[in-house]
Amino acid sequence: MFDLTNKNVIVTGATKGIGYGIAAVFATAGANVAVAARSLHDLDTAVAGLDGLGSGKIIGVSVDVADPRSCQAMAEAAVDAFGGIDVLCANAGIFPEAPLATMTPDDLATVLDVNVKGTVYSVQACLEALTRSGAGRVIITSSITGPVTGFPGWSHYGASKAAQLGFMRTAAIELAAKHITVNAILPGNILTEGLQEMGEDYIAGMARSIPAGTLGTPEDIGHLAAFLASDEARYLTGQSIVVDGGQILPESLDAVAG
Ligand code: NAP
Repeated sequence: MFDLTNKNVIVTGATKGIGYGIAAVFATAGANVAVAARSLHDLDTAVAGLDGLGSGKIIGVSVDVADPRSCQAMAEAAVDAFGGIDVLCANAGIFPEAPLATMTPDDLATVLDVNVKGTVYSVQACLEALTRSGAGRVIITSSITGPVTGFPGWSHYGASKAAQLGFMRTAAIELAAKHITVNAILPGNILTEGLQEMGEDYIAGMARSIPAGTLGTPEDIGHLAAFLASDEARYLTGQSIVVDGGQILPESLDAVAG
């Protein structure tokens, strides 16, 4: 486990799923963690669950990442509470199904607003504080869907997750001189509240296509995020790292041993 004591961290979309797993790993490693999402009730529950895992402070911050002013307020709340921001985990994202034939302009706009604009707005809002850190870290939760694979019903989502990587590469160059690294984690199928809504058949089908035989856990993503946030990862930037139990490797279902 990397020691993240005294690191000041924001995790967006941290009341559930992957974001909560990242927040739990960071809290356990001693970081001060700002848990950010929209639902105030879920924020209270998440803060109560994370409090006491480590020695750092845990706060809840209400944010809608699709709104740049809300992202600005989130960054200000973290600076007020902790004195600065060292790590931004831009994790908040949505994945509603919309087959291409019936996808509406609103369906498309909503996914791009949260997943793409929300990532950019979150980074912009934290930029000044990340620069003051002297060792800032941006860790984006992208996906295998879009950058590497496709799945019917999620073309808009795949486009949004690939767009995050396009953003990351130029951001990594622009921010390198400020000693800020920008990297992306590409999870495969991770058992989260959001994924559970897709139903048991979806989950069982996915498990069959994964050489490791099971879906991942939010903490599997959290451990890579902790490494990317650590001092040891200071020279790693602009990279996208797949965490998927080998899911993108087989050429067909027959190629999955088991
Ligand atoms: P989840 O269980 O549905 O949780 C989503 C989190 O994001 C919640 O905390 C939610 O809280 C928050 N959120 C949603 N819209 C928001 C907004 N506009 N502003 C701020 N917070 C918002 O999702 P998940 O499965 O953990 O996915 C998290 C991230 O991982 C997403 O970027 C997703 O694309 C990516 N991912 C997931 C998987 C997977 O298998 N689960 C695979 C690849 C990539 P509120 O609704 O209260 O705001």
